[in-house]
Amino acid sequence: MRVLVIEDDELVASGIVAGLRLSGIGADHVATASHADAAVCTASFDVIVLDLGLPDADGLTLVRQWRAAGKHWPVLVLTARDDVQDKVAGLRCGADDYLVKPFDLDELVARLHALQRRSSGRSVDRIEHGPLVFDPASQLVTLHGRAVDLSRRELALLQTLLDSGQRVLSTSQVKDSLYGFGESVESNALNVHIHHLRRKLGPNIVETVRGFGYRLGKAGA
Ligand code: CA
Repeated sequence: MRVLVIEDDELVASGIVAGLRLSGIGADHVATASHADAAVCTASFDVIVLDLGLPDADGLTLVRQWRAAGKHWPVLVLTARDDVQDKVAGLRCGADDYLVKPFDLDELVARLHALQRRSSGRSVDRIEHGPLVFDPASQLVTLHGRAVDLSRRELALLQTLLDSGQRVLSTSQVKDSLYGFGESVESNALNVHIHHLRRKLGPNIVETVRGFGYRLGKAGA
């Protein structure tokens, strides 16, 4: 999952981004509404975390503009305003969920997973793929009932593949889902993660589509 965090408080933002990355979620950060608009034009995000009080616009104006333009990515609003009126206004503008600061990072992660599930049409928490079971909330993976130890990037890669179903993903789509804007990526890093996934989850778990990218394959030997 890749998340865009729109928050002008640098301290809050860096805490959120670091926490999300530790939870295996690719997170990017911008501090203004205009940078947010630029970011959503250049990359695709699964969920947007939006602070309402931005220096150059009210967050709700941003949501209203996106919805009016037919952009339906899930938006979770963050605000210091613990006010029912604001909450109603936010949801009426088209936001999907709401958290009042200060909030618990685990709760944010759980809600992001729930929003992504809802937008991808999945209602169950666990994703089953043949003998492989993945629980996004706990980030636990089992193969034939046995726990498999995956690194943070391997988990993110697996989740991206599971979310894509049978669609072929381009190499840059896969990289985008694993790394934020600021993160440096060694050219061979993706191949290394794929190699490890194949070793741990079966040689066919990642299918290479020559000249284009990758697709989810069968789990197990
Ligand atoms: Ca703010």
